Amino acid sequence: MHHVQQLINGQFVDSDTSEWIDITDPATQEVIAKVPQTTDDEINQAVIAAQTAFQTWRKTPITTRARIFLKYQALIREHMDELAEILTAEQGKTIADARGDVFRGLEVVEHAAGIANLQIGDFVENVASGVDTYSIWQPLGVCAGITPFNFPAMIPLWMFPMAIATGNTFILKPSEQDPMVTMRLVELAIEAGVPEGVLNVVHGGKATVDAICDHPDIKAVSFVGSTAVGKHVYERASQSGKRAQCMMGAKNHGVILPDANKEQTLNQLAGAAFGAAGQRCMALSVVVLVGTAGEWIDDIKAKAEKLVVSAGKHDKDLGPLISPAAKARVEHLIGAGVEEGASLILDGRGITVEGFEKGNFVGPTIFDNVTTDMQIYQQEIFGPVLCVMRAADLDEAIEILNANPHGNGTAIFTQSGAAAHKFQQDVQVGQVGINLPIPVPLPMFSFSGSRASKLGDLGPYGKQAVQFYTQTKTVTARWFDDEASRGVNTTISI
Ligand code: NAD
Repeated sequence: MHHVQQLINGQFVDSDTSEWIDITDPATQEVIAKVPQTTDDEINQAVIAAQTAFQTWRKTPITTRARIFLKYQALIREHMDELAEILTAEQGKTIADARGDVFRGLEVVEHAAGIANLQIGDFVENVASGVDTYSIWQPLGVCAGITPFNFPAMIPLWMFPMAIATGNTFILKPSEQDPMVTMRLVELAIEAGVPEGVLNVVHGGKATVDAICDHPDIKAVSFVGSTAVGKHVYERASQSGKRAQCMMGAKNHGVILPDANKEQTLNQLAGAAFGAAGQRCMALSVVVLVGTAGEWIDDIKAKAEKLVVSAGKHDKDLGPLISPAAKARVEHLIGAGVEEGASLILDGRGITVEGFEKGNFVGPTIFDNVTTDMQIYQQEIFGPVLCVMRAADLDEAIEILNANPHGNGTAIFTQSGAAAHKFQQDVQVGQVGINLPIPVPLPMFSFSGSRASKLGDLGPYGKQAVQFYTQTKTVTARWFDDEASRGVNTTISI
């Protein structure tokens, strides 16, 4: 049995723990590896290694740091097939989607390779006669990242490349449900030249997360995961004086106007609602059909019925959910939807996939006539379940969206520029797609979920990540000839 290792001070090491967590193939329940609950002592060793490495890494030329990421992006490309295969085996998503998971992370690595263009401070000459002021963006020290199961390649790559490129050292805590592709990416980072102690990996669940939040020598924590845990991390990390950013749960609405390109819209909706078995924080899990678009309900169902559920490695449309517990939760919520009076027009419960009878499969599921008081509307289902609602006009649709506490993503489908512009302006959601269902920004921007989907002002990757992982130091300098230095000035002016 493969035992996942930790990375401490440049060495891949076994844990001394007695507590191991099974990693299972979600299509078969086969235990494919075990991951340790890292001990407190090992977490301390990782932080000491990161703190020691910071002393030299922060002074390493920015171009040297950047070049590591040039090499790293090439290595990730070279190992794309292998990474996707590892990811699918432990996470369950299709191979094509696993490649997308790696690719969206790779884009951040490419961006990190341009760090010298991003970490540029400001300079004002002659703020007073012969006095210049400049600000420099310095790294914080040891930073940490805690990641979820649903994007085990992309989300770790949102974090450590930008943190390290800006001169910090890093402690990564991958999801204990699928840490193997993350570890392979970490091995490639070491191969690319990340020096010892600059990147460290510890494992486990709540105990490790709490130890990271409490550790006095960790300066900042990046978290991506569920809302309940994100709130806990934000509060606990803030209490111990850390900078924290937490990207959390969602309930993303698509709005379809009757003038939308029907075929394209329905295809995009089906992909965004059911792709990755609905386990994306940007999945469209609610659709608001406006006016006569309400008549498209049968067409939506027809699209969903055509999707093929199978083991991820067969590369069909949807793979299994991550765990039996996730499947039980999704099925329970579908049951609650029926009890609360929503119309279940497509039921994905109870499906079996030949050859994978033990897999955590749920097929595409659609509820019509969903109302805002139902559990299926109020909770993030995180499964292939689409809730359909109706609105008389765009104003009513926007009202529904803005009354929902979440603000991760949304999309409008229309041919009307005026309607799209109104939507973009009035909707209180951080990431808006126009005829584009999953508007996750590329790294020249930042991930910008809002309201209940986010705690902390600054998002991951892009310019905001450079700000998050650095602190501004402002220097005011006067250089003078000796004879110019005359007299004592007791006023506040320069
Ligand atoms: P999760 O909150 O269960 O786990 C996230 C991390 O927190 C993991 O590393 C886990 O080990 C740790 N953790 C779990 N329980 C904990 C506890 N009680 N105390 C401390 N730490 C704990 O999330 P998940 O199920 O892995 O991921 C799915 C969730 O992540 C969904 O809610 C999804 O919307 C969200 N997500 C959000 C974004 C975003 O950018 N907003 C992106 C991806 C996923």
